[in-house]
Amino acid sequence: MAPDRPESWIDLDANATTRPDPQVVEAVAEACRTLWANPSSVHRAGQRARAAVELARQEIARLIGASPREIVFTSCATESIHLALHSMPRGPGKEILTSRIEHAAIAGALNSCRRAPRYCAVTCEGLLDLDDAIGQLDGAGGVATHLVNNETGAIQPIEPLLAQARERSIPVLIDATQAVGRMPVDVGALDADYVALSPHKFHGPKGVGVLYVRQGARLSPLIGGAQELARRGGTEPVPAICGAGVAATLARTWLEDASRREDLGSLRDRLENAIIGGVPDTVANGPRDRRIWTTTNLAFGDIDGEALLMMLSERGIGASAGAACSSGSVEPSPVLLAMGLSEDLVRGSIRFSLSRNTTEHEIDHAGEIIVRCVASLRGQS
Ligand code: PLP
Repeated sequence: MAPDRPESWIDLDANATTRPDPQVVEAVAEACRTLWANPSSVHRAGQRARAAVELARQEIARLIGASPREIVFTSCATESIHLALHSMPRGPGKEILTSRIEHAAIAGALNSCRRAPRYCAVTCEGLLDLDDAIGQLDGAGGVATHLVNNETGAIQPIEPLLAQARERSIPVLIDATQAVGRMPVDVGALDADYVALSPHKFHGPKGVGVLYVRQGARLSPLIGGAQELARRGGTEPVPAICGAGVAATLARTWLEDASRREDLGSLRDRLENAIIGGVPDTVANGPRDRRIWTTTNLAFGDIDGEALLMMLSERGIGASAGAACSSGSVEPSPVLLAMGLSEDLVRGSIRFSLSRNTTEHEIDHAGEIIVRCVASLRGQS
């Protein structure tokens, strides 16, 4: 099976997750070997584990321009989103302003926290309609939206919405899971109350998530306990946190040189152009001028996306139809539907996503295989 031979596997599914960096793997392993004590224990071994957790917290904070006290470790971004939404004020009419193009984690959290949504309109390019969003702000209990879309890579123009929410003292959660570690994110400039992120999206380990909580913002724990300054109970997963800290350091260093992101953006464009040039009736979903370098989402007319995914997988290429979390389900992507695509086009849409390790050779090789697979599927159908 291709995934067991990683050297022959071209990963174009980095928006689902990224392969941990070797330095991250080593940090996780080293922490398992030597930092296994409970960081809440007062003895020396416990305090060594505590020091490692705090070092990682500092590194995560530096990556997003926060203070370490504003960082709460959770288990994943989904939990972080739940924690933020659980903390927003309740009351009659205090709905949460959100959109239909969020990651499923937001809809899931609204449901679990029994918070009613107030949906703002979105454009056919998959951008929030800011006039509509701002028009619906009055009286809302909070705002929950994202910075970078997990399916199209759209970078949302949220600053004016955040400024208006701040003026009305409405708390804001930004799901920055697809942005942090891949583009500069400064929580000071965002001025949101809560920012959710996930180190496994920038070559860190799974099992740890992060919620930034602006100093002074209210927090109602979902899991009681003394850990994380009584904001999230449970013994901290020290190895995963240590790996997350190393991943944050590596991402911050990588982000210092903007040309790296530009080069990867050119690589994404090269893949996109090769496919669009080689496959008739293919269009890119999402805004082409407001997209992060990681993502292209292509609608192949007259194709069953699931069949294409399987065919690509057999040829050693990983990609995704809609959000990975909903793969296995045959439901068409709600994000693309909300953008006004027909159900047929949605079912024929595939997301290819790059990581900072994607190479030119992989892109060229993948482009050829994708073009051939689509041609072959169309020949069959
Ligand atoms: N938000 C966005 C935008 C995502 O892309 C994802 C994962 O794909 C999540 C939230 C959930 O992240 P996690 O898997 O860490 O819970």
